[in-house]
Amino acid sequence: MNKPTQQNLFQPDDLPEAPTSWERAAASDQLAAQVVFNRPLDTAFHYLIPDELRGMLNPGQRVKAPFGRGDRPIVGFCVGVGPVPDTGRKLKSIDSVLDREPLLSSRMLDLTHWIAERYLCPWGIVLESVVPAGVKKQAGTRMITCYTAAENLTERLKNVKLPTKQQAVIDVLLDAGQPLAIDELTEAASCGTGPLNSLKKKGFIQAVRRRSEPSATDFGATEQQPDLKLNEEQQRALGTIVDCLRSQQHQTFLLHGVTGSGKTEVYIQAIREVVSYGRQAIVLVPEISLTPQTIRRFRCRFDSVAVLHSHLSDAERHWQWQQIASGAVQVIVGARSAIFAPAPQLGLIVIDEEHESTFKQETAPRYHTREVARERARAANIPLVLGTATPTLESWLRARQKKDALISLSRRIGNRPMPPVVIVDVRNDPHITKGAAIGRALASTMRAALNDGGQVILFLNVRGYCPVLWCRACGQAVKCPHCDISLTWHKSRNVALCHSCEFNTVPPTHCPTCNAAGVRSLGVGTQRLEQEVRSRFPNYRTLRMDSDSMRKPGSHDEALQQFGAGDVQILLGTQMIAKGLDFPNVTLVGVIDADTILHQPDLRASERTFQLIAQVAGRTGRGERGGRVLVQTSSPAEPAILQAAEHDFISFAEQELGHRKGRGVPPFEHLARVILRGADEPMVQQSARDMAKTLQQTAEEMGSNVRVLGPAPAPLTRLKAMFRYHLQLAHIEFEEIQRLWNEAIGRFPRAKDVEFVIDVDPYNMR
Ligand code: ADP
Ligand code: ZN
Repeated sequence: MNKPTQQNLFQPDDLPEAPTSWERAAASDQLAAQVVFNRPLDTAFHYLIPDELRGMLNPGQRVKAPFGRGDRPIVGFCVGVGPVPDTGRKLKSIDSVLDREPLLSSRMLDLTHWIAERYLCPWGIVLESVVPAGVKKQAGTRMITCYTAAENLTERLKNVKLPTKQQAVIDVLLDAGQPLAIDELTEAASCGTGPLNSLKKKGFIQAVRRRSEPSATDFGATEQQPDLKLNEEQQRALGTIVDCLRSQQHQTFLLHGVTGSGKTEVYIQAIREVVSYGRQAIVLVPEISLTPQTIRRFRCRFDSVAVLHSHLSDAERHWQWQQIASGAVQVIVGARSAIFAPAPQLGLIVIDEEHESTFKQETAPRYHTREVARERARAANIPLVLGTATPTLESWLRARQKKDALISLSRRIGNRPMPPVVIVDVRNDPHITKGAAIGRALASTMRAALNDGGQVILFLNVRGYCPVLWCRACGQAVKCPHCDISLTWHKSRNVALCHSCEFNTVPPTHCPTCNAAGVRSLGVGTQRLEQEVRSRFPNYRTLRMDSDSMRKPGSHDEALQQFGAGDVQILLGTQMIAKGLDFPNVTLVGVIDADTILHQPDLRASERTFQLIAQVAGRTGRGERGGRVLVQTSSPAEPAILQAAEHDFISFAEQELGHRKGRGVPPFEHLARVILRGADEPMVQQSARDMAKTLQQTAEEMGSNVRVLGPAPAPLTRLKAMFRYHLQLAHIEFEEIQRLWNEAIGRFPRAKDVEFVIDVDPYNMR
């Protein structure tokens, strides 16, 4: 029998002694290291530092140390060095030190420790996840063999006639003027290694050892452009941030600016100030591949910008990490993990599009980037700027309570009006009732916009051809055999695909439930929409952007370039096209179905619907020609939709806060969601009940008033062949939840083959 364990089923036997206080250190001059492992354990372990490793080990370096049954040496992070504690037991010794230099500074160690406590995740797991693999492998520090020209080579070759290939090698080397690696040399001279060996034997070239370095990354080289002259509102916003920078105090600013109000220009000029102090800035964006325009803007304003792409090689990432750590990089742009960039003199953190859910990490450690950024900025006494047109209610409430400072940009650049948003009730639309996606009003508005030479963006949050295959005879939808999810028909690949576990099968012709013939396809995905657009508007070029059509790295950028150049008139896609795009010729945005998010079992459904419409609407009316938005919905009275149509974030936020107040939900209370899963449903259910009971009893004993809600089957009860149950802990103070959890975690009754995870401040409620 095992205990239910966190993340992994792992129960080490025969653990080394956990640390006690440093104060009672034995009077010996021997030193011990505190080590944490990438295991679901909350403790750091003490090891002796053997004499031969003295002076080589500092916090932030990795070591190998004997651990668990059989004392196998495994890798862990050293998080402290100090006198040997008086544990009354003989300590084991560190085996070896893996890194020459610490991978994390003491500040960053503190930050990872904070994450471990805040997100109830073992420290070792946090450490493992924040240092990129390429850095751990020390990729790029490998020594490789290169060849260089021998001394006086030109002299010596004056009267020598070499074979063509050998001559080519010599030419390449003399041309390069520096040592070249074997593969660089053979490629440039179009030869094998034979000529190299002959030349070496003759003494014309010499082998040298060099550290391998990636060549692909560079941080600057873009032609620089001058800063824009800020308008009055921008000027005021910048002034507030710069005052804070000068006072060297921490402050979080919520920069609430409508779409197109020039927030990015404010970030840029605030960073200008930071750079003038010789310090660095981190800019976090929702997703790197979706924001090529933003990245370009940073590249043409600063000499050295590191962009943390996900597709860098290990060697490139290692090199980049070192460049950042050396202080050579002014601006670091990346998705959420860039918050861990080792900038030595960080001066400012900016989070663009603060409301995006990609800032929440959905695997351990399940941190929210905004909160990690807040802690990093607090510890470094620097400002944090959260920019968005549609703040999360968490951020909005903090600003209202004056915990954070609110800066508003209320108008678009050049006083351009916000685009009018028309809500179209499609419940009786003749096109839609016949199964089309584009209703009558949207079709004619599209035609008019295209006739006028404008461009159109159509947004639909469903990928694939159609999201449901449905049996007319028994009324059942075709489901994934492993998940509680309908299979999506992908017509081009001719598969029915599960969007959760990637299970796929040939689309059935007969119902898997009742075996009746004739399965019908229900609903519209982006592929079907594309087909409809092409047949309705055959004279215009259409481009689809979703995760199926944009698999190759760089394909987003390419697609957006085409659209920007006007080669494509109609751009359609999923949320991928809702973000940050700035194309002045877009005169119409159509939202195909505003209800897709609204009816999800999610306390943020209204908030997300509002954000989506407001953000999509932000893609038009950015040029001289103006623009408009059509929103198709079957819930035309929904306040979130109506308020988004009015561009009225404040009314929406106030109303939504009113709904949430007193319900014990965020942003008024913190939640922590525990998800239990296992292959056997009764066992999962029992284990969830036991856990809830233990939590309740522990809370009573501790006099804690944390509320324990549930257990209940998770909305997505079956996922990847596992049954899922969840329960929630709720309290106004996060620390109370933390206290209860840490007390209760050792008391959960034994349950075989049931795993659990805890998600603090969860976003995903499925
Ligand atoms: P946001 O980030 O708020 O959506 P942007 O920073 O993208 O807004 O600005 C919208 C557009 O206005 C961009 O094309 C930008 O170059 C331009 N812009 C921003 N500030 C100014 C300014 N002060 N003067 C002229 N154009 C500006
Ligand atoms: Zn599935």
